Amino acid sequence: MKKIVVVGAVGGGATVAGQIRFYDPDAHIVVFDRESTMSYAACGTPYVIGGVIEDERSIIMTDPEKFKKKRDVNVKLQHEVLKIDREGKKVHVRNLVTGEQFQESYDALILSPGGSAVMPDVKGMESSKVFSLRNYEDMQRIDQFIKTQQPKNAIVSGGGFIGLEMAENLKHLGLNVTLVHKSPTIMSILDTDISLLIEKELALQGVKLLTGTTIEKTEGKTVTLGNGIDLQADFIIMSIGLKPSTQLAEKAELNIGETGGIQTNEFMQTNDPSIYAIGDASENFDMVTGDPKRVPLASPAHRQAFIVAQHLTGNKLAKKGLLGTSVLKVFSLTAAMTGLNEQSIKDKNLQSATVTHTGNSNAGYYPDHAQITLKVHYNPETRKILGAQCIGGKGVDKRIDVIVTAIYAGLTVDDLQALELCYAPPYSSPKDPINMIGYKAITK
Ligand code: FAD
Repeated sequence: MKKIVVVGAVGGGATVAGQIRFYDPDAHIVVFDRESTMSYAACGTPYVIGGVIEDERSIIMTDPEKFKKKRDVNVKLQHEVLKIDREGKKVHVRNLVTGEQFQESYDALILSPGGSAVMPDVKGMESSKVFSLRNYEDMQRIDQFIKTQQPKNAIVSGGGFIGLEMAENLKHLGLNVTLVHKSPTIMSILDTDISLLIEKELALQGVKLLTGTTIEKTEGKTVTLGNGIDLQADFIIMSIGLKPSTQLAEKAELNIGETGGIQTNEFMQTNDPSIYAIGDASENFDMVTGDPKRVPLASPAHRQAFIVAQHLTGNKLAKKGLLGTSVLKVFSLTAAMTGLNEQSIKDKNLQSATVTHTGNSNAGYYPDHAQITLKVHYNPETRKILGAQCIGGKGVDKRIDVIVTAIYAGLTVDDLQALELCYAPPYSSPKDPINMIGYKAITK
């Protein structure tokens, strides 16, 4: 019987444990997590804080008792894995409640330790009014603070996914929200013209945006920015980035890649073939360029969990790499992207051309149509798609999902004209924006 130990019981960890059980009824599976909640949807936490999701427990998928009963997996919460002994194939574990330390042997070890919020080294960050949002307990702390302190003014630092979701949700609660962002435009994974449309939406919705600056210090309610402006805030949400948790891997001399994640091959194995790494802490490679890439999002963590479960049960299903596909709701707008953006194409010195189409999500005569803009970057010689971005109302996610499938299948931009996609007036047009990109590319 194979003994499998997993570090982390949330996005990647709980998923890989469940999937291994699905394919191997005999494996002995033990999962450790230092937190007290397992298998919750971190992605839902901003919406719990905003009151959009009313029952906070609804984002918890399971608990150790249910998981044991349903999947026969032993999950030990409030247990921290301290060290990996690669020679002895054991991990050293501390029970955080009793302080007891013990060792657990493994045939295969899967690391899915996620990451921690990056906090700047500036005065006042230790204040009880400064929060970050990484896990269930962080969510509860922010929620409690809002409910008990009834704050009026919030600052969100960092205009990436979590920062924007928090800005929207705090606004939804009726707070005055100021978003502070270091670079000249927010959402650096998007092309600047797309980011600017999001900034316009934030302004329309009453979120004050200050770009090109950061928090320099905070004292009481006063928050001083690098540009000299003083703001008043009842609390601050810091969302300036994620640091992959690689301490365990580093101590065990597993290779850390140039993106700061634990290096893995196409089967998510580290340089020790009996140790796998998945999720936010792992580094894999870019599907388009083959360069090292780390995508701290839930979808890759789940795909990687599947690959590991397959590999451990004898099916060598190689990962084709990462695209970084992502989608974001900002009030009435949706923005989504996949693959390379303009900046990464420039940084990598790649040849590229772009086709853009602005049109309706579905038939213009149907009542709830919305405008969407779809931009596709491609290599003008090979005609292969490098990446795409889409912004607008409904149907943005669907267009990017089609492009993801096209990239995965190795289609050219010209092939998009030929795709026979779903059409009825509430959903699309006989010439879907995807087809329009193909038409435009062929004549370009
Ligand atoms: P995690 O889910 O973070 O789990 C890691 C676990 O390992 C943690 O519980 C940690 O305590 C534990 N751990 C670490 N070290 C040890 C140790 N030494 N011993 C024991 N336990 C340890 N992704 C999307 O795709 N779409 C979204 O909309 C989205 N929204 C998000 C919103 C928020 C607010 C956050 C925080 C994340 C969001 N994500 C989203 C990202 C997604 O949640 C993560 O990509 C996913 O959870 C990664 O899974 P993971 O297993 O790598 O890490």
